[in-house]
Amino acid sequence: MSKQQKIYVTKSFMPPKELYKSYIDKIYENQQLTNQGPLVHELEEKLSTYLNVQNFHYVTNGTVALQIALKALDIEEGEIITTPFSYVATTSSILWEKLTPVFVDIEPNNFTIDVDKIEQAITPKTKAIMPVHVFGYACEVDKIQQIAKKYNLKVIYDAAHAFASKYNGKSLFDYGDISTCSFHATKLFHTIEGGACIVKSDEISKKLDLIKRFGHNGDNHYCLGINAKQSEFNAAMGLANLRFISEIIEKRKTISEIYENELNGFVQRPKKQANLDYNYAYFPVVFKSETELLRVFEELNKEEIYPRRYFYPSLNTLPYLKTSTSCPVSEDICSRIACLPLYPDLDEGIVLKICKIIKGALYD
Ligand SMILES: *Cc1c(COP(=O)(O)O)cnc(C)c1O
Repeated sequence: MSKQQKIYVTKSFMPPKELYKSYIDKIYENQQLTNQGPLVHELEEKLSTYLNVQNFHYVTNGTVALQIALKALDIEEGEIITTPFSYVATTSSILWEKLTPVFVDIEPNNFTIDVDKIEQAITPKTKAIMPVHVFGYACEVDKIQQIAKKYNLKVIYDAAHAFASKYNGKSLFDYGDISTCSFHATKLFHTIEGGACIVKSDEISKKLDLIKRFGHNGDNHYCLGINAKQSEFNAAMGLANLRFISEIIEKRKTISEIYENELNGFVQRPKKQANLDYNYAYFPVVFKSETELLRVFEELNKEEIYPRRYFYPSLNTLPYLKTSTSCPVSEDICSRIACLPLYPDLDEGIVLKICKIIKGALYD
């Protein structure tokens, strides 16, 4: 038997080279490389149709998507209520915009922001709520909407994990004033680097469209902007990958079900909402303690299998924050959660091997 390759938590989907090349040929025919070219338009249209959403903006990455979302909603100062359980970009984009993140702890079932704790964090300076549909699980969108309405706050969902997840029959991107996504190479659907903003209001959508290309149209300058435009080569990768999206999700589902069956009762798992059509973006498992997690990692690492501590540390403990808040649930979950390897061509034999190693490394 050939030596097993190193197994990481994720591996980028690679479309057939010939297919990618056929899109590159189009770029050579069109002789346009960027600035909202035909492939970017085609990808925006195809994704809008696939996700059944409107006002879809394809941008350079998921971090800038959050930053221009804040700008498009005219949030220039104040506090943003957010979750400590996410990738660092959720918090760093708020800080980068010179806004203050206010952390509200997560609930223990699926690790999204605890809606019952949002109201007590609202102050006269609060401008918006920025929750995360973490791992593709849905936040309590209706309650968040009610709170936002009551206090006149904007809602920006960091939906970087929520591509193709549907809640109450519609895309998770369809909630909030703006939802953002990431199409980074490690994500479920990728365009190498890339991201998106999905905007509820047509007017704000027009503004965001200007902001993403320096705030001007020809010689007419309307507002302060930035360069968040995407290139034709990135769009080409997206168009090629989109052809395989059903297969990608199906394969992830199959692998997730093997993990689920094998590890049932051995590890804690998020509770999927009944009305969520899940995208199988990640396979998070919670161990009994950090010691147990580290022991499992040690055993897996010996076999060149490298899961990741997603998410760690809890973002309320970042060293460059000005004030410290305590978020006990998030800090506890962060200390003992990991994501297991999950990608379409992960061998099912390896999945079984991973489960066996995990079970063998658990205490009692
Ligand atoms: C990946 C990710 C981002 C950042 O996206 P990039 O495209 O890498 O900039 C933001 N938020 C979350 C939750 C993410 O996982």
